[in-house]
Amino acid sequence: MRSTQIRSTFTDFFTSRGHQLVPSGPLVPDDPTLLLTNAGMNQFKPYFLGESTPAFSRATSIQKCARTIDIDNVGRTNRHATFFEMMGNFSFGDYFKEDAVAFAWELLTEVYGLEKDKLWITVYEDDDEAEHLWRRIGVPAGRIQRLGMEDNYWSMGVPGPCGPCSEVSYDRGPAFGKEGGPAVDGERYVEIWNLVFMQYQRGEGDKKGDFPVLGELAGKSIDTGLGLDRLAAILQDTPNVCTTDLLLPTMHTVQDLAGRACPGQDEEGKQSFQVVTEHARSVAFLIADGVLPAKDGRGYILRRLMRRAIRHARLLGIDVPVLPAATASVITNLGGVWPELSAQAALIGQVTAAEEESFTRTLTQGTRLLDAAVARARESRSSALPGETAFELADTYGFPLELTVETAREAGLTVEEDRFAALLEEQKRRAQAGGKARTTEALRQRDTYRELAAHLPRTEFLGYGHLRAET
Ligand code: ATP
Ligand code: MG
Ligand code: MG
Ligand code: MG
Repeated sequence: MRSTQIRSTFTDFFTSRGHQLVPSGPLVPDDPTLLLTNAGMNQFKPYFLGESTPAFSRATSIQKCARTIDIDNVGRTNRHATFFEMMGNFSFGDYFKEDAVAFAWELLTEVYGLEKDKLWITVYEDDDEAEHLWRRIGVPAGRIQRLGMEDNYWSMGVPGPCGPCSEVSYDRGPAFGKEGGPAVDGERYVEIWNLVFMQYQRGEGDKKGDFPVLGELAGKSIDTGLGLDRLAAILQDTPNVCTTDLLLPTMHTVQDLAGRACPGQDEEGKQSFQVVTEHARSVAFLIADGVLPAKDGRGYILRRLMRRAIRHARLLGIDVPVLPAATASVITNLGGVWPELSAQAALIGQVTAAEEESFTRTLTQGTRLLDAAVARARESRSSALPGETAFELADTYGFPLELTVETAREAGLTVEEDRFAALLEEQKRRAQAGGKARTTEALRQRDTYRELAAHLPRTEFLGYGHLRAET
């Protein structure tokens, strides 16, 4: 099943059951507590908190999500991306657990046609009601597992709603990992759908552990998220989220540039192919939603993704610009479903080209410096790279700290991150004292992006406000 059909199947299923179809919110949320949108429920937060009342009691959406927390997993696990689409159904004080469970089961098994005996369920350790509902629908006890706070409990704000979750995982078979269910191996038993039951009011206390439950909510609510990328991988019988039809054309572009095919699991270069492919999509979507490279905040996340992708492309031997081509294939492939990509194609092309040009200028020198530092550390039997090296790499060569850490890790070393932070702090203080708020590198880049924005055609230019605010 193609991804376009997976999407429409999902929204048709829920609209025909009384859910209002709500368009995705932007990746840059209207929420000061959140850097980037990371779940379908983000845009509905005021409803769940009771701050405003929706015009409908049931909704469905396909939300663009970004999760940099998963950046290191890209290319390591088969199932994590830094950008993905989350399909969800929501009840605002309308239906609760029983219907949420029944909808999920019917859609997965009868509509998408997943084999029942490959589906595993997790419930929160105290949630007998959820277990009972899954049993009643036909899931055998042996495929239901109970998990604790860390995995299967959700909360938002203090005081705010909280409640148990229940998740559906799909068994991809012994080739993917160990036997024993989702509690044992997340690569073999891939989590696809999270059902959150907002049931209680929580009080003051530690987010992950000890907080008092103040009682049941008057209006119990449902928030669910089904990962499109993961479901597509299963329905298209491909092992990895980078080889579904959502990303395959981009993978092909990267392969063409590298002049070779992405190798199989555990082989040299596989991770690099996947990093370049996957990050290109995140980069395109972030720029389309108005994020521009910067030295902090969202702009830093974008820069980090771009620079990581560029470095991995060079590791593959790609010595020509990779991001403009890879993001162009993302736009061609997904611009029909996400028109903001097509609308911002010129900006995406130019920002990626400018960033790649500027980073390429220093990448080789920086890599040489890094290699020498790694060799020195090995010689002196040290297990960590000096904070000074990481700082020089960031300050002079534009290496995001995380990139240095990642490269060091590949060589079996850590980085003195505390020392790095201290040096950065020191530099900031000096700069403030001298009235010089920016390094020359940052200044040069700011001018590049200003110039870029000034020469762009007048499209619906979502990025401009951001450019001003962030440079
Ligand atoms: P995991 O445990 O695999 O990291 P999660 O528990 O963090 O996933 P949720 O926060 O429950 O994920 O999000 C709901 C759904 O969104 C997941 O069940 C999954 O299908 C999808 N999803 C979450 N993170 C990613 C990701 N990094 N890439 C692709 N899909 C994801
Ligand atoms: Mg996760
Ligand atoms: Mg999980
Ligand atoms: Mg989850």
